[in-house]
Amino acid sequence: MLFAPEALTPTIESARRVLKQYYGYDSFRPMQEDIIANIMAGRDTVVLMPTGGGKSVCFQVPAVVMEGVCVVVSPLIALMKDQVEALKANGISAEYINSSVGQSEQNSIAGDCLNGHLKLLYVSPEKLVSPGFTQFLKRLRISMFAIDEAHCISSWGHDFRPEYTQLRLLREQFPQVPIIALTATADRLTQRDIQQQLRMHEPQVFLSSFDRPNLNLIVRPGQDRVGGILEFIERHPNESGIIYCLSRKQCETLAQKIQQKGIKAGFYHAGMTANQRSAVQEGFLKDDLQVIVATIAFGMGIDKSNVRWVIHYNLPKNIEGYYQEIGRGGRDGAPATAVLFYSFADVMSLREMLTKDNPNLTQLNLTKLERMQQFAEAASCRRRILLNYFGETLPHDCGNCDICRNPPTTFDGTLLAQKALSAVVRMRERGSIGLLIDVLRGMRNQAVLSGGYDQIKTYGAGADLPYLDWYSYIHQMLNDGLLYIAYEEGYALKMTDLGREVLQGQRQQSMKKFQVAEKAEKLPRGK
Ligand code: ADP
Ligand code: ZN
Repeated sequence: MLFAPEALTPTIESARRVLKQYYGYDSFRPMQEDIIANIMAGRDTVVLMPTGGGKSVCFQVPAVVMEGVCVVVSPLIALMKDQVEALKANGISAEYINSSVGQSEQNSIAGDCLNGHLKLLYVSPEKLVSPGFTQFLKRLRISMFAIDEAHCISSWGHDFRPEYTQLRLLREQFPQVPIIALTATADRLTQRDIQQQLRMHEPQVFLSSFDRPNLNLIVRPGQDRVGGILEFIERHPNESGIIYCLSRKQCETLAQKIQQKGIKAGFYHAGMTANQRSAVQEGFLKDDLQVIVATIAFGMGIDKSNVRWVIHYNLPKNIEGYYQEIGRGGRDGAPATAVLFYSFADVMSLREMLTKDNPNLTQLNLTKLERMQQFAEAASCRRRILLNYFGETLPHDCGNCDICRNPPTTFDGTLLAQKALSAVVRMRERGSIGLLIDVLRGMRNQAVLSGGYDQIKTYGAGADLPYLDWYSYIHQMLNDGLLYIAYEEGYALKMTDLGREVLQGQRQQSMKKFQVAEKAEKLPRGK
């Protein structure tokens, strides 16, 4: 009769004992236990858990319990060192091999591996795929491969590492060894990429919720941002907050304007010296500074639990970044607010920036920006859109975003749409959104007059509506596919076939009524 002797079968009880003995914790967090059971059963496993969720335990504990050595692939040398030191401090035998480790030390580590002394071996992806290393690994008994920061494998992800794409050799060379992939940020596409590239075999995916229900999500139109921000701070006295800006200059001038209101504000960006930066960071942590105006350089590794609000002065480049930045608010679980200022002009300047940035990634980055734009322009629950992006589904509206709190009402917008479409056609499809609105509202500015647009039939046909209302309706028409933007022709608006049907009265157009997110919102002046 063939069966594994009881003592050799790793059990969840033995894992619990290890957790207690080496880490001092009494119990696993809910998902950890299922993950560990899955790994110990020898199955491929994908773990998606926010930072701080406790991913390390998920492979470290089974590594101790199971026979052989767990090979951990980790992209950051500094991170590797920290993890190995922490393991050793807990009494678990672990080592790392990367470019910073000398040859003689590598040899002695290799010896420990062959003796079966080591439970965890951390390696950089470069080392792993280097010639001879797989030959060495073949001489070992390997319990599992753990791929940390697994999103690095995907060129769709935000931190792509070309070396990671060669990790498929693990499955090819070691078909019997289970693989566990772990990451804190992976949208749907990245998740799929991870599984495919690692050649995982019917992996079980563990997705711990990324939802932060205490964050109130708000998007506001990008007019008069400074006024809106000053007013917001006034309405939230003594509450710590972060404002993210795109440029260093913006950080400095905005911080100054806030200071002028008697509020303790500092700025933070990569152009400052390390000393200046850490002084500002300290001041914020100790609540000497109430507000920080920063570029996205700020926040990495900052652990301040009582940040009550996060404002985005500009549209972020992608949803991953946005989510990470708003995630710095309300870590203590108490209510916090995330306000995003949005204008189409931001999209245009980001498009320009991304196009120049890295030619290989332009298409990818533009697609991501588009998703961000859709989020900002959405008329349905924002949290659902956000979670959906990360592969989670929320079965109901959240009740804690501007759309849920203030749901838009719909009306028959056919006539409005026809006015706009007619003007688009009469402007010979050469006008941008801003110009179209000016024409509809009967403005007499240089661009309108020099184009002769004050002569067309629809000039002033929409003078009864404020600028922002038109702005919203035209965006809805863009989202619904009645219009599109020819980016290569100075952002000129063009009519689609669907738009033509509406213009000719063959199709109705339903619109969501435009309303502002917060009561105290200042209504914009026309352009
Ligand atoms: P991640 O890698 O997901 O960012 P870590 O593995 O660093 O998270 O864990 C975050 C913190 O939670 C660590 O301090 C870790 O010791 C702690 N932790 C992990 N699992 C447990 C547990 N079962 N009980 C209590 N604390 C835990
Ligand atoms: Zn909602």
